[in-house]
Amino acid sequence: MNMRTNGGGAGEARLSLDAMTSDFVVDVANIVREQSLLGPRPADLSRLLLLLDALAEFACDEDVRVYGVCDSSLLRDTRLTPAERALLGSWADEGRIEVRPVADPRILELAEQLDMPAVTFDNFTDHIPGRPWIAGNTDTFLKPRNNPAGPGLVVVPRVLPVPEEWQISRKVEESDLLASGLYDRRGHGARTDLLSRLWRCADDACPLFGARRAAGQPMPRHQRGSVLCPTHETPLTAVGTVPARIQLKVRIDGTVRARFAVHEGETVTVGRAPAVAGGIALAALQGFGPAARNWISRNHLTVTFTGDRALVRDTSSNGTVVERRGPDAKLRNGSEWVLRPGHRVLLHDTVALELSGRQHVFTEEAAAVPATPLTSADTGPTLLYSPPRRGEQGSRGNQRGRTTRRHR
Ligand SMILES: [Zn+2]
Repeated sequence: MNMRTNGGGAGEARLSLDAMTSDFVVDVANIVREQSLLGPRPADLSRLLLLLDALAEFACDEDVRVYGVCDSSLLRDTRLTPAERALLGSWADEGRIEVRPVADPRILELAEQLDMPAVTFDNFTDHIPGRPWIAGNTDTFLKPRNNPAGPGLVVVPRVLPVPEEWQISRKVEESDLLASGLYDRRGHGARTDLLSRLWRCADDACPLFGARRAAGQPMPRHQRGSVLCPTHETPLTAVGTVPARIQLKVRIDGTVRARFAVHEGETVTVGRAPAVAGGIALAALQGFGPAARNWISRNHLTVTFTGDRALVRDTSSNGTVVERRGPDAKLRNGSEWVLRPGHRVLLHDTVALELSGRQHVFTEEAAAVPATPLTSADTGPTLLYSPPRRGEQGSRGNQRGRTTRRHR
């Protein structure tokens, strides 16, 4: 096997791209940039070299084999010294590490298919939709930390968090933005300067950025200073700005049945069958049942977006409940609530409204299209429940016996 070569330590001899005989897969850029390890440098190749020694210790095997997968950006990272970049480049050339534009999918593939423990600080939240085993995982991931009993590093097992759904959406958006060149991983975040502009394709008939697109827009691609149409690969022209907006989801019995946007300064009414223009008519959505129809008011609540705040105002007969960490909040006619990610606004036990975790690009804005036309049952009076205590007796349809009818 490989022994010491031109100046490297024993550590680098443990790097191997033989997947079948490797004991661990390492997220190279993630480790090299982890500032909790060793000194405060934003990138430091000795973190990887000391990790290789720590893995030998952890596995009780001096000949441990480590499969390193490295984001290509690390080879150009000027926060490494020229000597560190040269060493990393020589490992790539010699086939000691695998270089990928984005390392994550390859690391997860090796961990999943070969049952190889993965060493990384990443939570892979954006990959949970396709790989649900990641959430709460206790047996696949490891991380190094500073050795409390001396120099170097030690390796410890990790328990991955189980994120909330909006946190997953936010991470998925972040990785979509990253793939389109619209996210800066070094602290600046999303390129809001590019995302807030309204773009037009040179081709008027373009489905993504053509002249007929009325509201919202998909993600453009940003590459080497140019903003391109992902379909036509031609430069886009900025023709205006996209007003700030938030996106809300409507869940019926847990399934998302509609999404709608609220623009800066706008108020949108949500209810069974709002009598105001631009309202979201829940009764027209798939899965909207008779119990919800009886309970929810025609104009049940409004959502206003101003100054970066989403404000919910109850205008209903039977009230609204907000579920969150901590005790539920009960909104009665006229009371207001600042909506945050993770809050579930219940218009009825079966109908919930929540903020999308996405912040910049909303792909399914058109989903609020009614599935069925409204009927007189939808636009008729609301049943007023008295006493209006949601969830009592624990089921959805059984409030019927305690009702009186009234018109709104
Ligand atoms: Zn186009």
